[in-house]
Amino acid sequence: MPELPEVELTRRRLERELVGKRIARVVIRTPKLRLPIPQELESTLPGRTVSSVARRGKYLLFDCEIGWLIIHLGMTGFLRILPGTTPPGKHDHLDIVLEGGVLLRFHDPRKFGTVAWTTVAPAGHPLLAGIGPEPLTTAFDGDYLFGVSRSRRVAVKQLLMNAAIVAGVGNIYANEALFRAGIRPDRFAASLTHPECARLVNTVREVLQGSIDQGSTYQVAEGSVAYHPLAFDVYGRGTGACTRCNGALEEIRLGNRSTVFCPRCQH
Ligand SMILES: [Zn+2]
Repeated sequence: MPELPEVELTRRRLERELVGKRIARVVIRTPKLRLPIPQELESTLPGRTVSSVARRGKYLLFDCEIGWLIIHLGMTGFLRILPGTTPPGKHDHLDIVLEGGVLLRFHDPRKFGTVAWTTVAPAGHPLLAGIGPEPLTTAFDGDYLFGVSRSRRVAVKQLLMNAAIVAGVGNIYANEALFRAGIRPDRFAASLTHPECARLVNTVREVLQGSIDQGSTYQVAEGSVAYHPLAFDVYGRGTGACTRCNGALEEIRLGNRSTVFCPRCQH
C-alpha cells in the first residue's frame, strides 16, 4: 500500500511532468472506484491547464484552474505518465490525456482508490476536512501529541495511525517510528510522557523523511511500482532478530494490523 512517502514522491514526479500542461481529453473506463468517478471530468477538464500538484495526507490535489482533481491511491493504485498512444490494459480506470502526446493513467487492481472533483478549496472537501496536521510540518510537535494523547484509551500505534490525529502515518511507518523511539506499540497513548511524545514526533518525521530522501531508488517498473525504498527495522520482520539487540522480535495484532516490536528495546 502506498504510504505518505510514496505519495509525496508521486507528487514530485507528477509536478515535474504535468505542471503547465493543458488537458486535451479525459477517458473514464470505470464508473466507480471507492466512490463514483465524476462523469463531468470528461467535459470540464479539457482545455484546462494543470497549475500545481499538491498533497494533503495521502491525497493528491491537482489544481486545474476551475477546480481541483483529488486522487487517493487506495491500496493498490498508481499513476503513470505514458506516451499518449499507449493502449489501456486491465485495471486502467482513468486517462487524462495532455496536449503534447502524453497521458496520466490511473491503474488500480483492487479499486480502493478515489477520484473526486471539487470547485471549492480542497481543504474544506469532506474527504479532507477531518485530516489532522501534516507530520512533516511544525504543527505536529511534542506538545501537540502530548495534548491529543491525554484522554486516549487506545494503543499509541493506533493513535499514530488515526488520520484525524496526524495525516498519513500508515502501518509501516508507525511500526518503524515506535521502534526507533523505543516505545512499545501496545502502550496506552495516555501513558506517554512529554519527552516520549517529543521523541516519537522526531522518529515519525525521521522515518518519513528518510524514505522520501531515498526516493531516488523509487522506480516505476514494467507494470508495477516499487514502493518503500527504506530498509525496515521491524516492519515485515516478525520472525527476525532485532537490529539493535539481536534478540527475537515479537509480532502481535493491533487494530487487526500486523505489529512488530522488540520487547527488550521498546518499553
Ligand atoms: Zn531489541
